[in-house]
Amino acid sequence: MTPRKPLIAGNWKMHGRRADLAEIAATMRLAGAAREGIEVAFCPPAAYVAAAAALGLAPVGGQDCSGQQGDGARTGEISAAMLADCGAAYVIVGHSERRAQHGEGDELVCAKAKAAFAAGLSPIICVGESWREREAGRAADVTAAQIAASVPESAPANLVLAYEPVWAVGSDRTPTAAEIADMHRLAREALAARIGVSAAAGARILYGGSVSARNAAEIFSITGVDGALVGRASLKAADFAAIILAHPAASAH
Ligand code: PEP
Repeated sequence: MTPRKPLIAGNWKMHGRRADLAEIAATMRLAGAAREGIEVAFCPPAAYVAAAAALGLAPVGGQDCSGQQGDGARTGEISAAMLADCGAAYVIVGHSERRAQHGEGDELVCAKAKAAFAAGLSPIICVGESWREREAGRAADVTAAQIAASVPESAPANLVLAYEPVWAVGSDRTPTAAEIADMHRLAREALAARIGVSAAAGARILYGGSVSARNAAEIFSITGVDGALVGRASLKAADFAAIILAHPAASAH
């Protein structure tokens, strides 16, 4: 099996203006030679995807897309094909903020992931348990069920899965290294059950939830963690580059 190239993707959420696209160039400059061994991607707000992609400095992704594959009467929605047309390579689907704030369920997330594949994008499919579910000992079951229902059957290996415990997103709390290792092992097993062992072995599984320069080295050292989906700490080049440079693959170059 070809080794999975680590992916560290920044999710800017609803932050930034055109001028902040300068952070992309600054991040890549600070990351220096680390860029050889690590794929660094940026998911700015949809309004800035085309401008970010036009910089030609790093792969760009959307933060959401429609579950409908063709054009249509869907005011406010953006299709995966439009993101691809703007130069995107990725699209985040099923982020916990979309699930909680917009009532998105697994079926819709799966439709969005299918639309992403149909448009030639790699979906970054987010899954993960709430605090209440973790406390009830249901983290593994809930996450496996989300994978079974949110990942399209027969999805190819360019799928990216992000294990993002909902309680760790935006909170400065993270699971222990052992918990992350357990959940990533479980996620790959659930992925294999859904898309087959070979595609699951090639798919990257990112950890997301309060990754920072402080904890990145430990998180990246955990077996089965192929990178990170980073929110707040991806907004400023110095913070994001410090995370990238904390990856073991950064020092190999
Ligand atoms: C996210 O938005 O996916 C995320 C992980 O946010 P943060 O890093 O800020 O917790």
